[in-house]
Amino acid sequence: MPLRLKLILSFITISLMVVSIFSVVAYISAREYTQHVEQVRLHKSNEHLFAMLDTSLPLLAQLQNIVPHHENRDNVFSIIDISQKKILPGGGFNLGTHLLADLLIQSGNKTQQGSFTIGKQEYLWSADPVPDSQYIIANTYLRDSSDISTFFSYVGTPLSTTLFISIWISVWAALLLARLFRQISEKNTQLEYQASHDLLTRLPNRGAIGRSVQQEMESAKACNEALIFCLVDIDALKEINDSLGHKSGDILLDQVTQRLKRTLQGSGHIGRFGGNKFSVMIKRSETVNAENIRHKLLESVEPIYEINGHSLYVHATLGIAIFPEHANNAQELIQKTETALHTAKKLAIDSSVYDVSQDNNSAERLRLTHDLRNAIHNEELQLHYQPQFDVRRHEIGSVEALARWIHPQQGFIPPDTFIEIAEQTGLIQSLTDWVLRTAIKQCAEWHDMGKYLTVSVNLSARNLHDETLSSQISNLLHYWNVSPEKLCLEITETAMMTNPAHAKKLLKELDDLGVRLSIDDFGTGYSSLGYLKQLPVDELKIDKSFVLNMAKDESDASIVRATVSLAHDLGLEVVAEGVEDQMSQDELSRMGCEYIQGYHIARPMPHDELTAMLISTKVKNNTQTDETLAGVQANRL
Ligand code: C2E
Ligand code: CA
Ligand code: CA
Repeated sequence: MPLRLKLILSFITISLMVVSIFSVVAYISAREYTQHVEQVRLHKSNEHLFAMLDTSLPLLAQLQNIVPHHENRDNVFSIIDISQKKILPGGGFNLGTHLLADLLIQSGNKTQQGSFTIGKQEYLWSADPVPDSQYIIANTYLRDSSDISTFFSYVGTPLSTTLFISIWISVWAALLLARLFRQISEKNTQLEYQASHDLLTRLPNRGAIGRSVQQEMESAKACNEALIFCLVDIDALKEINDSLGHKSGDILLDQVTQRLKRTLQGSGHIGRFGGNKFSVMIKRSETVNAENIRHKLLESVEPIYEINGHSLYVHATLGIAIFPEHANNAQELIQKTETALHTAKKLAIDSSVYDVSQDNNSAERLRLTHDLRNAIHNEELQLHYQPQFDVRRHEIGSVEALARWIHPQQGFIPPDTFIEIAEQTGLIQSLTDWVLRTAIKQCAEWHDMGKYLTVSVNLSARNLHDETLSSQISNLLHYWNVSPEKLCLEITETAMMTNPAHAKKLLKELDDLGVRLSIDDFGTGYSSLGYLKQLPVDELKIDKSFVLNMAKDESDASIVRATVSLAHDLGLEVVAEGVEDQMSQDELSRMGCEYIQGYHIARPMPHDELTAMLISTKVKNNTQTDETLAGVQANRL
């Protein structure tokens, strides 16, 4: 039954009940009231008779004379002799008289009033003792049996008007309430939808995905089935948002949604996991496995998109995990899929199925994270410095500060490992703080010794989001009295590209401070030259992967040559890292590379070793000699 009808019927029932209760109460009250009025009247008629008595004459004779002689009338008077216990002649009789007489005689009560019923007839009575005698005058009155209909004939019209009004109000209130309920339930449905769906693609959002994964897992468990859960990461979304605007990005997301729906044809669950990530969950069967679902998804998502007159190529990366092989609950399955996706992105491959060996959240890794936090907090890390040789001036003009961690139990932990942990756990902020403090202080000490070195510090992508970075660096330089150009900040091109607008703003702030800026690991990222040209950078560091083999590999040598020439065209100085042999060094010098860094010059070393080396080779003290490089190399580890 519709809610509206239910409410109308309930309200009408309630109002009918209220009116009925009211009528019954009113009827009972009216009867009690009229009974009271009648009984007062009966007493008064008795007293009226007593007022007519003359004390000098015989009492009984007078009573018999003045009491009306009625028989079987509605209202009769009777004379009762209490001492002789009988009704005396002289009064009237009706059905109630004898009953009343018996009642009075038995009870011996002299003044009473009440009512009794004989058959369907109700009698009201009042018995008053005649003053100074044994006589009682009982006045019995047969009550009008049409009392209830009389009552309703009086209250009928107002009662029906009240009933009509109350039914009308009930219907109105029921309709109003029904509308209110409908609005509330519509609002609730809308809120529920919004809370569980992405409003752009109308797909379930992350929370709803988690819940449906859990539900599907439970039913899969009951049927001994397996589930494949995939995360599809649309790589180009950010670039499209930045270059063509968010509207185009929204269109892309919508088109991806449609393509995924077409591919699955209702056989799985699709969700918007967040930003540029979609989720797909499907039951594994004879025809559906991780490999063919991976193919299908990539085939459906990757073909060219036509958006606002642009043909866009979109690259997707997939992470896949399987229930029950990889996880027992929804949270775990989703987390493992994220791990697989992370691995695929890190290895620059289009997809990856979860593999426990790649899991960053393993117990071992968690322990290392905990230990690293303590090591940073207790300043247990060390800073090593690797010289950078200035080819034109034949001197060590600068050093790169490189963090080292000797774990109390595990010994040397490679920086690539702990820096990655620090980046993923947010510890990189405090690690960079410490490196900057230590390196700038050390730089000041070398300056005090007359060794005017530049110190290079590596920044991570996350550091570029630290709004306090430039003021912190400025304070440190000021405190240690080091000129800004003696500090160089190395930022990888990948870090610069993670949030170009943000990076540009921060680099501008750092450039305004006067510090040197260097693009690290150049050649390994995807930075556009047009973009790099806009950044206030001073130098470009060619990644060691091109330099290490340049003496043997002509194509590496060509890349290095082209990079040096490109950097010079952009007005940048060039550092080549990973120089391990004399041939590479000579070749780089011929190419016009300004600085070289590598094991051929020196390995990274603690500050006291470097200080000793600087002293013995008289490096960078304004009186260097041509033997400087030979001296450094003689001292190298
Ligand atoms: P990077 O910034 O590219 O540092 C240069 C790396 O190349 C250093 O490795 C250095 O030891 C190594 N290297 C130098 N010359 C040669 C050579 O001739 N041959 C070879 N094979 N390698 C050479 P390291 O110290 O292991 O550092 C690895 C990476 O860890 C660094 O790469 C950098 O990305 C990161 N890292 C180290 N310290 C810090 C730090 O304080 N902060 C941040 N954010 N990252 C750091
Ligand atoms: Ca570096
Ligand atoms: Ca590098």
